[in-house]
Amino acid sequence: MGERRPLIAGNWKMYKTPAEAAETARQLVERVTGVNDVDIMIAPTFAALEAVSRAIQGSPVALGAQNLFWEDEGAYTGEISAPMLKSVGCEYGIIGHSERRQYFGETDETVNKKIQAAIQVGLKPVFCVGETENEREDEQTLSVLDKQVKKGLEGLVLDQLDMLIIAYEPVWAIGTGKTATDDQAQEVHQFIRSLIKENFGNALSDSIRILYGGSVKPGNIAALMSMPDIDGALVGGASLDAESFSKIVKYK
Ligand code: PEP
Repeated sequence: MGERRPLIAGNWKMYKTPAEAAETARQLVERVTGVNDVDIMIAPTFAALEAVSRAIQGSPVALGAQNLFWEDEGAYTGEISAPMLKSVGCEYGIIGHSERRQYFGETDETVNKKIQAAIQVGLKPVFCVGETENEREDEQTLSVLDKQVKKGLEGLVLDQLDMLIIAYEPVWAIGTGKTATDDQAQEVHQFIRSLIKENFGNALSDSIRILYGGSVKPGNIAALMSMPDIDGALVGGASLDAESFSKIVKYK
């Protein structure tokens, strides 16, 4: 197995004005300057992208978007495209977050189109998958993930996927304070890696980064990161504060 560089990503959801986001970004930059063995990303709201982009310039912190639309431009009121996100400095795009699936009608098909659009312009997709509480109780976890991963990546070929990142986020653990146990998370990460192997071969399954998300905090990150198939974290609540997010970044 090759060395996979950890990625710690913060999803700021619909929080912070541009001024507040830039201030938190500045505080984060102060705290993570010199960190060079972990990739760091923050995804503020669209309105704050430019301000945050300026605040993190020249630092180890990279910029991400929380969503994107699959067309480059057109009459799609309220949407934003992958080339537009690139033009304001985004390096990553979160795609298919469970809140988008739950409240905004995202499906495996729309997620697939968005992943293709991101890759087309060199925006690294952070492709989110995860089961609900009912699905876990019904022992559907692995079959749900099998479908989400296969449909989300349908039509994509190996040489398009080197920039893909997957985030496993059990829906019941997002914003609830409940975290999957290290073993529960590892079991699913291993399964997702096996799906990648089955569909795209050994090299990609060895190199692809699979992040865990769901109530990650400074106190539980180290144990999660000690699992062999967990390569980083997608962090919501605990990423909103520079001090707690920097502790997660510096989990080692
Ligand atoms: C998320 O929004 O992706 C997330 C994991 O949120 P939280 O860390 O707050 O559970």
